[in-house]
Amino acid sequence: MRKADRTGGRLGPWRRSFQWATSLLVLGIPFVRIGGDSLLRLDPPSLTLYLGGRALPIEELYLFLLLGIALILLFLLVTLAFGRAWCGWACPQTTLSDLTEGFRARIGLGAGAETKAANLWRRGVFHLFCLALALLTAANLVWYFLSPYEFFARLAQGRLGMAAGLTLAVTAALVYLDLAWVRRLLCREFCPYGRFQSALVDPGTLTLRFHPDEASRCIRCGACVRACPMDIDIRRGDQIECINCGRCLDACRDVMARRGQAGIIRYTFGLSGRGAAALLNPRMLLVTTAFVAICAIFAATLLLRTSLTLKLGRPTGLVARPLDDGQTLNFFLAVVANRGSAPLEVGLRARAPDGSPLRVLGPVAEIHLAPRERRRLDFAVVSPNSLGAGEILLTLESPQGQTLVSGQARLAAPLDAKDKGTP
Ligand code: SF4
Ligand code: SF4
Repeated sequence: MRKADRTGGRLGPWRRSFQWATSLLVLGIPFVRIGGDSLLRLDPPSLTLYLGGRALPIEELYLFLLLGIALILLFLLVTLAFGRAWCGWACPQTTLSDLTEGFRARIGLGAGAETKAANLWRRGVFHLFCLALALLTAANLVWYFLSPYEFFARLAQGRLGMAAGLTLAVTAALVYLDLAWVRRLLCREFCPYGRFQSALVDPGTLTLRFHPDEASRCIRCGACVRACPMDIDIRRGDQIECINCGRCLDACRDVMARRGQAGIIRYTFGLSGRGAAALLNPRMLLVTTAFVAICAIFAATLLLRTSLTLKLGRPTGLVARPLDDGQTLNFFLAVVANRGSAPLEVGLRARAPDGSPLRVLGPVAEIHLAPRERRRLDFAVVSPNSLGAGEILLTLESPQGQTLVSGQARLAAPLDAKDKGTP
């Protein structure tokens, strides 16, 4: 049997490629625009989430709720399926720690006594690297709230703003402290995910293990322990500190390959030996079904929602007033919102139940709405008393007469001309 067949290949290069790909994705997303809007950004001043070329104002709470539920279910799903592989392969803390430790080794700055003896300039270079990485990480976080194009323009003019500047400074300081001194200690002592994950572990969850039934093959070389960034011994079984990075797996594969054997440490889905089929259990199927359903509802709601909305109401105070010609003047208010990214021109029309037009008084013709503009309109409808207290149709129409959105409003009971009005 060839060596490659025995070892199954190293996972390290795959893990590093995955970390680079996810890092570049997270760094690049804020720069992507669709139709002039950010691909993904929360705009604090307008409390609007930009997602996939659509603007979702905070008023559309149901969409935020759906998105929040979908994210929680996705988190549960990833945890149930891949366990702590998230920590070792995708967590930004691990990626940044790996990068920092890699740089440390590259410039020849070791650990322990070796660190104390290292040249002063090496320490300086290392801390400058941590600072640069911390600033990039903090800026990347800010770009999900303030578009990077605006960020750099404001930075060049020296007017970044209090909120963005403070967020940048505080985040950069925290990340710098983390990278320069804390690193793995954060995973080991403070991160709640490991504790949370152990409560969620499923019979099919992907886990990295030293297989006890093959323990007799272990030559006690200690390569797995030396490779571990968390300073633990995988041979002692599942441990909360293990981030499932797979370094011990690679170390063991290398050692055992020299003996023409397969490694003893492996990733397995659960303990049943059924492979990925172990994931087909009721808990996984339930969470997957709920996640797919919520995503489908969210996508359908997003696709079917109109870019123009019309909400009708009555102003406080005077509701209706009789006219001398035997008709009634009904007062209304409307809130018109353009949720799209292009300006709109519309006009508001009123129709009786039989489709005949009704006179509308107020600033309702040629309404120009900028992208994402909301406007209140106060207007009155002249209705013949023959309509009684019936419903009328109010529509927002394009300049070509096409109905874009409509709503119904109820008229006040007909009034006699000698009445003063209906409060
Ligand atoms: S035991 Fe293995 S997988 Fe766990 S942290 Fe150490 S090297 Fe990574
Ligand atoms: S690297 Fe493999 S063979 Fe060496 S001590 Fe660890 S488990 Fe045993």
